[in-house]
Amino acid sequence: MTYDVVEMFTSINGEGMKAGQLAVFVRLKGCNLNCSYCDTSWANKKDADSTPLTARQIYNKIKEEKVNNVTITGGEPLWRNGIRELLELLAGDKELAVEIETNGSIDLEPFNNIENRPSFTMDYKLPDSEMETKMHPANLKILDKRDVVKFVAGSRKDLDRARQVIVENDLVTRTNVYISPVFGEIELSDIVEYMKEYNMNGVNMQLQMHKFIWDPQERGV
Ligand code: SF4
Repeated sequence: MTYDVVEMFTSINGEGMKAGQLAVFVRLKGCNLNCSYCDTSWANKKDADSTPLTARQIYNKIKEEKVNNVTITGGEPLWRNGIRELLELLAGDKELAVEIETNGSIDLEPFNNIENRPSFTMDYKLPDSEMETKMHPANLKILDKRDVVKFVAGSRKDLDRARQVIVENDLVTRTNVYISPVFGEIELSDIVEYMKEYNMNGVNMQLQMHKFIWDPQERGV
């Protein structure tokens, strides 16, 4: 079995619990959603250039980088048969800290019992994405302190919905909660003011660091 890898590179992790640390990124082709603000839509196209690699080939390339943090991303990396094989292989190497970025629409339960399972960095899609109806709400019960739930907000309406989901699911107590802006769509200070207005203790506002270091459209960084 092979995986369609559209890019693989080492950079700093721009977001999540390992933000600012080096990580090897493995970006897999294809996504089952179509968010209004998608910044990797090029990787989701059927004709996107990709290299078919086996799980072992991906693992070997990761080890060559001598970087312990690994981020599996996309697209939607869980949206393919056989992804478990790759996750199990990576989980078997205790030196690696593996994170999988997932869009919230794929049931996480089948992956929850992988021994030393990867950390889930799960989006919860807000109204402006036009994809909220695709969310798999039961995932919010699976996430724990190994994981992150990320709300990408583009408006006050999005922030209202994020707050509602956070409170209703007691997410601050159970997992790590991040709010990020849709790049260029919302004043960053408005997010801070909103958090102050509602005393959003324990919620992390996070900027995608790589978009400030490099051109926001730059690939492979
Ligand atoms: S889930 Fe992510 S990769 Fe898929 S369309 Fe939305 S933003 Fe793009």
